[in-house]
Amino acid sequence: MFQISLTKILVAYLVIILVMLFGVWLIREWARKRREKKERRHRFVCNICGGTYEDKTRKDITECPDCGALNERVWLSDL
Ligand SMILES: [Zn+2]
Repeated sequence: MFQISLTKILVAYLVIILVMLFGVWLIREWARKRREKKERRHRFVCNICGGTYEDKTRKDITECPDCGALNERVWLSDL
């Protein structure tokens, strides 16, 4: 039977830990981007007063709650 040195076991252990951490980081990053994209879909910036507000409807033109100006939905692409 072949022998495994303690160093190799430690290196394998560290590699497994690093891969797991990278996987967790990737999953969390993916979830964060997805959540931000979902939030950005309903967020409006008023062209007149500059205030931000949310509108959950699917309408392309919404009314600003602060000044009453009509704002058009602008689809922002990911940077
Ligand atoms: Zn406004």
